[in-house]
Amino acid sequence: MQKAAKMDRQFNLITSSQDTCQAIMAISKPDAAVLQLKQYWLDDLHKNGTVLLTHPYAIDLALLAANQRVARNSRQHPEFSPLEQSKTPMNPISDDDIRHMRAAIEQAELARVAGEVPVGAVLVMDGEIVGRGYNQPISANDPTAHAEVMALRDAGLHQTNYRLPGSTLYVTLEPCVMCCGAIMHARVERVVFGARDPKTGAAGSVIDLFAEARLNHHAESMGGVLAEECGAMLSRFFADRRAKAKLAGCSEERTASSSPVLLDAVRKLTTSYGLRAMKIRISLAKQILELLDDNDAVLRRYPVSTAANGPGETTGSFQTPRGQHIVRAKIGGDQPLNAVFKARRATGEIYTPELGETQPERDWILSRILWLSGAEPGFNRLGNCDTMRRYIYIHGTPDEGFEQAPRSHGCIRMRNTDLVELFDAVPPYTPVEIVAA
Ligand SMILES: [Zn+2]
Repeated sequence: MQKAAKMDRQFNLITSSQDTCQAIMAISKPDAAVLQLKQYWLDDLHKNGTVLLTHPYAIDLALLAANQRVARNSRQHPEFSPLEQSKTPMNPISDDDIRHMRAAIEQAELARVAGEVPVGAVLVMDGEIVGRGYNQPISANDPTAHAEVMALRDAGLHQTNYRLPGSTLYVTLEPCVMCCGAIMHARVERVVFGARDPKTGAAGSVIDLFAEARLNHHAESMGGVLAEECGAMLSRFFADRRAKAKLAGCSEERTASSSPVLLDAVRKLTTSYGLRAMKIRISLAKQILELLDDNDAVLRRYPVSTAANGPGETTGSFQTPRGQHIVRAKIGGDQPLNAVFKARRATGEIYTPELGETQPERDWILSRILWLSGAEPGFNRLGNCDTMRRYIYIHGTPDEGFEQAPRSHGCIRMRNTDLVELFDAVPPYTPVEIVAA
């Protein structure tokens, strides 16, 4: 009960941001959005409510909202014009079909940002979207977690019914054999899909299960709605993935377009919470961390100790990542100075030089943690070079052993009183730039 109340409070805070609100509306109606967000956020709630939107999905949602705004502003979607629609009277595509397919494309976008093949689906009953889903077999460790199945499950829960008669399923890619089966089991009346799938499509491309007379239930199916857009999304995804696979390890080239959009979304989120815009800049060559205001004026300058192995982004390298980051979570705000942390939780110990002498091999994480997430996909975010999954922190280190020199295993170490001062000055999502020079 208490947990639910906390989630609601968090959710209210989340929806108070315009960007995120847009992202949530893009996913769902509020009820369904809570359901969908619950799994993302529930494990990430911070007891004093100071950690907001720290889950990577939240960052992705903000990115998605920002991307959608850019797309809307540039108006570059290839759309079915009214003229083209009227040319195909046998297969009329209604404005509702276009609108609902757009909602399915938004779901596909969620799959893309999660690193999954971008396929999305929505289920519509009486003109209303009652279920949403996107492809997530990898992240869910579930071979059946195709967009259509996820949307059917969501709708079933929403309708408290395992059958969905009279409904229409919109999906960006032609359904596979499994999904056609699930669609028939659910008694879906009509299936509208975007791009054809020549390899596994079971609605006409490889096989047409909906036209199979020996099966006792049939759904009407129609393909080609916003097909170009749905298909382009998939082609882009696979081209990107091929390009990434080609680069062994991590790219030295930055995906320049990604980070400004994300950082812009983060900046807007920050100011919409009434928080002061701040930045952190870390110089690996100078072993200095600077806190800057939004006019680039240096407010504070602290000595730091970064990786003994120098700069680098690859997992397992024990190097300090470069590039644009954000503070994805603030941990330990209620802990005393020199509190000891293990796996981001306070152990209850307070570090003293005597304790240090008894465990000389231990890599001490003290006082506070600012957990960083990369903001440059392919360079320091996702894949084999993900700062967040490498658990790169700005953290306190035993004061008596501190040297302003590269000594760490990858993290940015600071003196404890310095760190506490910095911690109190920066809100979540503060941009952090780490430069080699
Ligand atoms: Zn499928």
